[in-house]
Amino acid sequence: MTVAMNDLNTIRPATREFLAAAHANLIGGSWVPAASGKTLSVVDPATGQEITRVAESDAADIDHAVQAARNAFESAAWRDMKPATRERLMNRLADLMEQNIDTLAELESIDNGKNVAIAKAVDMTCAIDVFRFMAGIPSKLNGATLKPSIPFAPDARFFAYSHPVPVGVVGAIIPWNFPALMIAWKLGPAFAAGCTVVLKPAEETPLTALFIGRLAQEAGFPDGVLNVVTGYGHTAGAALSNHRGVDKVAFTGSTEVGRLILQAASGNLKRVTLELGGKSPAIVMPDADAAVAIPGAASGIFFNHGQTCCAGSRLFVHKSRFDEVVDGVANIARNMKVGPGLDMSTEIGPMVSKVQQDRVCAYIEAGKAEGAELLVGGTRPDSNGFFVNPTVFVNTSNDMKIVREEIFGPVLVAMPYTDLEEVIAWANDTPYGLGASIWTRDVSTVHTLAHRIRSGTVWVNCHNVIDAALPFGGFKESGWGRENGVDAVKAYCETQTVCIAL
Ligand code: NAP
Ligand code: MG
Repeated sequence: MTVAMNDLNTIRPATREFLAAAHANLIGGSWVPAASGKTLSVVDPATGQEITRVAESDAADIDHAVQAARNAFESAAWRDMKPATRERLMNRLADLMEQNIDTLAELESIDNGKNVAIAKAVDMTCAIDVFRFMAGIPSKLNGATLKPSIPFAPDARFFAYSHPVPVGVVGAIIPWNFPALMIAWKLGPAFAAGCTVVLKPAEETPLTALFIGRLAQEAGFPDGVLNVVTGYGHTAGAALSNHRGVDKVAFTGSTEVGRLILQAASGNLKRVTLELGGKSPAIVMPDADAAVAIPGAASGIFFNHGQTCCAGSRLFVHKSRFDEVVDGVANIARNMKVGPGLDMSTEIGPMVSKVQQDRVCAYIEAGKAEGAELLVGGTRPDSNGFFVNPTVFVNTSNDMKIVREEIFGPVLVAMPYTDLEEVIAWANDTPYGLGASIWTRDVSTVHTLAHRIRSGTVWVNCHNVIDAALPFGGFKESGWGRENGVDAVKAYCETQTVCIAL
């Protein structure tokens, strides 16, 4: 099968103009090239062609950006800005993103490979929503008044309060699968708390970060509150995570890099939040509604071409329904349209890079070598782009590599189970604990299973449903802390206690 090319003639003039512009880092309110003068290639994964170049930054640029973020953090313009003013600023950024939503969606689609209509309806709409949700928080942040007893001073009287103060300069390091949404997940709570940020987007997808940097300037954020530095993880990312001028690292990415971030952060004991990988189970109960469970399980794995941290990549189906459900999912996979992101009818876009395509295909080969049976897919279409056809494996067991490790591509492993205890044990037999879904019509099963599954989110008759109001994050090796929800802002605050002798 041959896949169509991405037609760059269809993009808007504003998008074309942005792609044609010279790109630099946003540091302290100015656009500056990498100190080394180096640039790196940004590639359209649907064609393998370079679309533009951005700064290839290193430790010197990170140091410059951290200084700018520190200066901004200590400036009266940001420190003394009233909460209501900060809220208006954040809402203004959300408004500008909305006004530029088509350009943002096109940039995300060309950069990452996802369907442009999905980039608009899901990625950008949700990112804007996160900024609006978080913009509601600054004026509501409060602490507690306390009446301490102080037992060693029986005759003295004291009054105390505790209140949240911003943690300081935040280093935000994000992946390539939902670039703009990850930006909102980091910047939203950071700004709501009153922090300043150095943002390092993934090398594969820097474009919406740079565009949002422009919009933040237009919105009127004081210089240095948001700094955007593009570059590789092992250089720019590593420099940001071990910089002593950074108070907190907010990271989303692989568990492997999460461990490196933790080590790097130990120098000055910076605060760390980690959103990491997953191998999330989708569990179909004997009473599930096939009309809901079959398309739901398919979308649980194939949404965003399987490049979703909480993808339902392990499908457990009760043996009485196994053939019906798995054949149904395989049939959907067989008929999905593989194509470039700018074609709105595309259902499976390319993997983000050649590296990722090769990685996913290596897992498929490992599955075949270990004796798993391919029901559908397992091949790459004929294209210069980085496509992988949607794939379903059966005859798999819990010790296989394709069942244990995160593939981060459109590859599903399906297994039949016999009873509830067996499927609970299998679902939890993973170092990860990010998401899970249960497909059933029985309310008792819902609560029994939900409480026994060790994962940060449990969905019922749905999968991959995220919202600004819903805390999201992992148990076990899927991470530390939660994104979204009002409490996410606390991860960007210190609690300060003020104790007063009366
Ligand atoms: P990754 O390789 O861990 O990269 C994530 C970010 O870290 C990128 O910006 C990367 O830079 C940077 N980085 C790489 N090495 C670094 C280092 N030594 N020090 C500091 N930063 C470094 O992950 P990915 O391949 O981009 O994304 C896929 C992974 O992210 C999957 O495992 C997925 O499950 C996970 N993920 C989790 C969530 C969640 O919310 N839990 C969401 C999305 C993705 P470069 O790319 O520029 O090298
Ligand atoms: Mg790209």
